[in-house]
Amino acid sequence: MRHPILALGAIGLSLCFALQTPMAIQAQTDLNDSDEFFQRTIRTAPERDNTQKIEDLLKRMTLEEKVGQMTQLTIGMIVNGRDQDIKIDPAKLDKAIVKYGVGSILNVSDQALTIDRWHEIIGDIQGAAKKTRLGIPVLYGIDSIHGANYIQGATLFPQEIGMAATWNPELMKRASEITAIETRAAGIPWSFSPVLDLGRNPLWPRFWETFGEDPYLAKVMGVAFVRGLEGADVSSNDQVAASLKHYMGYSFPLTGRDRTPAWIPENYLREYFLPTFDAAVKAGARTVMINSGEINGVPGHVNKHILTDILRGELGFKGFVVSDWEDIKKLVTTWRIAATEKEATRQAIMAGIDMSMVPLDYSFADHLIALVKEGAVPQSRIDEAVRRILRVKFELGLFEKPVPTAALKARFALPESRQVSLQAARESLTLLKNANNILPLAKTTKVLVTGPTSDSMISLNNGWSYVWQGSEESLYPKDRPTIRKAIEEKVGTANVTFVQGTKITRPAGSTSNNTPTDKEEEVDIAAAVSAAQNVDVIVLALGEGSYCETPGNVTDLTIGEPQIKLAEALKATGKPIVMVLVEGRPRIINRIADSANAILMAYNPSNEGGTAIADVLFGDVNPSGKLPFTYPRTPNGLINYDHKPFETEDTAFGNMAFKPQFEFGEGLSYTTFAYSDLRLGKQVITANEELPVSVTVTNTGSRAGKEAVLVYVSDLVASISPPRRRLRRFAKISLEPGQSRTLTFKLRRDDLSFIGADNKPVAEPGEFDVRVGGITQRFTLQ
Ligand code: BGC
Repeated sequence: MRHPILALGAIGLSLCFALQTPMAIQAQTDLNDSDEFFQRTIRTAPERDNTQKIEDLLKRMTLEEKVGQMTQLTIGMIVNGRDQDIKIDPAKLDKAIVKYGVGSILNVSDQALTIDRWHEIIGDIQGAAKKTRLGIPVLYGIDSIHGANYIQGATLFPQEIGMAATWNPELMKRASEITAIETRAAGIPWSFSPVLDLGRNPLWPRFWETFGEDPYLAKVMGVAFVRGLEGADVSSNDQVAASLKHYMGYSFPLTGRDRTPAWIPENYLREYFLPTFDAAVKAGARTVMINSGEINGVPGHVNKHILTDILRGELGFKGFVVSDWEDIKKLVTTWRIAATEKEATRQAIMAGIDMSMVPLDYSFADHLIALVKEGAVPQSRIDEAVRRILRVKFELGLFEKPVPTAALKARFALPESRQVSLQAARESLTLLKNANNILPLAKTTKVLVTGPTSDSMISLNNGWSYVWQGSEESLYPKDRPTIRKAIEEKVGTANVTFVQGTKITRPAGSTSNNTPTDKEEEVDIAAAVSAAQNVDVIVLALGEGSYCETPGNVTDLTIGEPQIKLAEALKATGKPIVMVLVEGRPRIINRIADSANAILMAYNPSNEGGTAIADVLFGDVNPSGKLPFTYPRTPNGLINYDHKPFETEDTAFGNMAFKPQFEFGEGLSYTTFAYSDLRLGKQVITANEELPVSVTVTNTGSRAGKEAVLVYVSDLVASISPPRRRLRRFAKISLEPGQSRTLTFKLRRDDLSFIGADNKPVAEPGEFDVRVGGITQRFTLQ
């Protein structure tokens, strides 16, 4: 068992469009070309050469000390008490750090501590490490997935799926810079992020932890995340080491359930799942965490081809590899590829695991020491792993400053950081439907606010929010409004009626092994219906509660039945409905989508999400998010945007053809944009030539707005049947009413290539289409 859980009358166009964000943030949100950002950002600063120091230390280390460095335990192994009331137990600390020389500790479950408590705990741990023979500091790690997690009051940002919807990698980089500062301010120098798995199957409960379904968008965002965390000097107080996860193919299990088998042939593994990791390794990421599942029958933790041949041999990764939670043990208990834990340890270490997240006992160290003594694991393999771990510790500056200074606390949870989170939430919100321009609402509109996510900080945040499951309402900052409160603040309580409608609850005692966990029930649907009689518009906030990893498995992607009942009952009132979806994955809404006059996708926008949603609904912010995934119409219609061309054809598939509820890249604005003059620099290009692509975008409406411009390329004939189209560039620009801008992108050979049957990239001669904003131009590759 893993982490235990604690338990229109008045509607009109609002003419005033006031952007309430500082200019500094505005300036970074105009992105002219994703490729220019990517090339500029992926560059890393030269590292200090610590080879001599590492070799000197290694020479003095015993086998036990080396294996200790390769061991990671959970904080529960050194404390007494639970959750927020933990206290270091000196005897346990001594056993872990002094006796076993444990190199790393991590944090899980429900330990959301104040920054002061973190300083004490890190101080105690590093104090114990200093007393050891060689005084090697401990590397502490946490899951700062969307902001500094497990630290009370930290600034949280929209989850990755929402950050992808901003199409704004500059904003992603800024958010991860703040995440690094706040994590390091607590004395923690290592984050288990970003998640670089692709969200290509919305059944997968970690969908919201991804940047969506497209490898290119996820690659650009992933590099932004890594560079924001690691910066130019990872030893500084502003930065932390990143951990790319979960390398690789974890997100695409056949059943959609967490940690179940995937079947992915190597050409598709390389086409879809490798590019994010490849780019982030080139961006300098220090550590990589491994896929807890299996691909083609081989568990991630023993896949030498992936862990060593590809990661080290091809990608040139120099950092260290950490296992995921208990995954060496699971080679015996779950995957059954080894009969004993000792044999599992041998296989994992020889495949390329450098550090084991054991994390609940000392078995790993005992087995590994025995294996080396018996000659089953060569000493050289141990030295290699320890060199890599020490290198990261030196680069992080842990030997010089293992503990945080009190001054760092002043950099924690600053008002400016909160503004960046608000900006990100605003830019993520994606308007999917706006019949008769019902939105924005006038601030004099009388509204009924209802639905299970309308008054919940838990739904706005989802998992990895102060605690693992994000399920502790009491830990959310009290001054951040839910959707209901933000609307009340915006238009006055006199204009707002609130009725819960339905609720989503988490039964006490849910664990990672007993799913599904959320229970949905009706609360007062009849009261909502009756309250609707006295308002102009219904704001119906639907979606999900919080969930993380296995507890988020679902048996049906359809949105909860009580929510459908609520929507249908409200529809019968005849009042206009503005549906807000607060959810980590696209729950099927086809039975109720038509009843909504407007649909706003909010994803998990985090603590500023309530404010951002009210800003968009009432016109203070013009929405500019676009869907980073395909929103399916039916539970069995899980087809990605880059499917094969024939899957779109009614003739072949009839009503099974690709007809999603909403397409990848959809997202409306309160203004309108026209695309014109799509021009290619050449009609025919040869192998190594660049192809300039230009397009003019004009704001043809009456408000300023931002537009994400998406450039797709289609290979018309290829030896591996080609996808209908693939995203190859994007830009996010701001345009005043009447303003036009011409953007120029340059496509390279890489953008035209795919992974062939021999698992190598190939750009085959032939015809290609470039498509931007509904206009298509054709060219030939010679
Ligand atoms: C998750 C990882 C996470 C680790 C530590 C595992 O269960 O799969 O993503 O980093 O726990 O919390």
